[in-house]
Amino acid sequence: NGSQSIISLINCADFAAIKHRNQRRKDKDETPYINHPVGVARILAVEGGITDPVVLQAALLHDTVEDTETSFEEIEKEFGKEVRDIVAEVTDDKSLPKMERKHLQIKHAPYKSRKAKLVKLADKLYNLRDLEKETPQGWTETRVQEYFQWASQVVRGLRGTNENIEKELDKIFKARNVLE
Ligand code: NDP
Ligand code: ZN
Repeated sequence: NGSQSIISLINCADFAAIKHRNQRRKDKDETPYINHPVGVARILAVEGGITDPVVLQAALLHDTVEDTETSFEEIEKEFGKEVRDIVAEVTDDKSLPKMERKHLQIKHAPYKSRKAKLVKLADKLYNLRDLEKETPQGWTETRVQEYFQWASQVVRGLRGTNENIEKELDKIFKARNVLE
């Protein structure tokens, strides 16, 4: 029911904030990392019109296993199997080399569940908007442009999932002259 969902969401936000507490984004201001998962959940709810609590919970948690000391077992114990499974679908295998991981995102995108595709679309939109605002410390313009190109290939495999979020991504790719 509604109040249980609200409590679960607050618990996810709290859990993610604790896990990411020492991390920063790559922008020059070194924004606290938690701004990103919260912003991804906001894109889904406000721009995507998504109200499914498990999708919003998975969005808040989506980088905890990949980027902090968090296990899938921990996610399942706290938030249940459905949330765990979505987080697992959007988590890269860190034992693989970085380039391989990037290639696998393109290759696997079309086979993800609809809920995982939603989280991935919102994650890409958030990161591309960050890159539009400013170039991270130490990145060349070429690296930024390559990131847009790569993201567009991932997004190609996620399409047909959320009209509004995809429309926002299209605007960004068009402005950058990136064709899908
Ligand atoms: P990275 O994967 O290293 O960084 C991008 C990721 O960082 C995003 O997907 C996002 O992931 C997170 N992030 C944090 N802060 C920001 C921000 N302000 N804006 C955007 N994203 C942010 O980048 P690349 O894809 O370019 O690198 C791939 C590999 O290639 C790395 O090993 C890199 O070191 C190497 N490399 C590439 C170069 C190039 O020209 N492409 C040059 C030199 C090295 P999340 O959603 O998980 O937070
Ligand atoms: Zn992310």
